[in-house]
Amino acid sequence: MLKNDISLSLGNSRKKLMMFPINAEHVFIIDKNRMFMLIQTRCAICNTLNNASLVYKEKLPSDGIDSEPYAPRRKRDYYHYKMVKCNTCGLVRSDPIISHNDLPKLYHDSKCTYTDVNENTPLKRTYGKYLEHLIKNFGIKRDSYLDIGCANGFMLEKAQEFGFTNIVGVEPSHDAIERAGINIKSKIKEGMFDENMFEPEQFDVITFFQTFDHVTEPNKFLENCHKTLKQNGFILAINHNVNSLSAKILGERSPIFDIGHAYLYDLNTMRTIFEKNHFKVHSVFPVKNTISIGRIIQLLPTGKKTFDVLEKIISKTGLESVNLPLYVGNLGIIAQRA
Ligand SMILES: [Zn+2]
Repeated sequence: MLKNDISLSLGNSRKKLMMFPINAEHVFIIDKNRMFMLIQTRCAICNTLNNASLVYKEKLPSDGIDSEPYAPRRKRDYYHYKMVKCNTCGLVRSDPIISHNDLPKLYHDSKCTYTDVNENTPLKRTYGKYLEHLIKNFGIKRDSYLDIGCANGFMLEKAQEFGFTNIVGVEPSHDAIERAGINIKSKIKEGMFDENMFEPEQFDVITFFQTFDHVTEPNKFLENCHKTLKQNGFILAINHNVNSLSAKILGERSPIFDIGHAYLYDLNTMRTIFEKNHFKVHSVFPVKNTISIGRIIQLLPTGKKTFDVLEKIISKTGLESVNLPLYVGNLGIIAQRA
């Protein structure tokens, strides 16, 4: 085995992490805590291994990879793997990335930092609006509903309000499930979504909100969704848009460049990957989010001092929980099992 020292930019300091290439696709990365295997990734659309251009060099935590940066919607830390863009189709991806086998534990141990005022209420409103649109415009049956990556189950509550009867969520973070409401908790399965979790053709609607970017094997994931959906069942998904104005303005300081994101889509690549997996795509669209001022401040690319001052001001004035409708750089898709 060839030893190869690669200098990575680690937080604010520059340290040396040891990387050991094993073969063309696998590399061990060793830090002071433990050893992880990083795996070279393929374009999920073209299936090519290289054929990609550098977007950003990697920026990883100096004290090793653990579950903290895998927490959903945490405050910004700007950690990400090397980001590349496919030369053929434009799909952006992390390359190399931590092995798929290490992810369940990292997500299981990650803490849910959502608060009701800052996150759940506005997100429920945003995603709820699109779910309502789906129900009204596509004559949806409301016998069964699955939300993948449901966190504390706030969208399961919303689906229940809309009249869905059999509702189920899947979530890997134990802490997030612990925070679910008393009537919702028992409806959440702990773990990563896979084909063995459910019977085939079980659901009328599957949703995933800010989940698909995290999926390291998106073709397999969509294939499993296809199997799990009833004939003519629908998917509603919302995630980041790598081609949005905010991503362009913020550049590497955009929250989309994140250690948890395996692939980053735009309107075209999102449509293509669903069509590749035999879905009929009805629409792909920019999403208008309802977002609290408290959350906007968390996402701003400011230093800690400025952040602390701003946070104090808004929590004193009560502005924290004021919600604004904004295009913050998300996209949505409505697709149907063909
Ligand atoms: Zn490609």
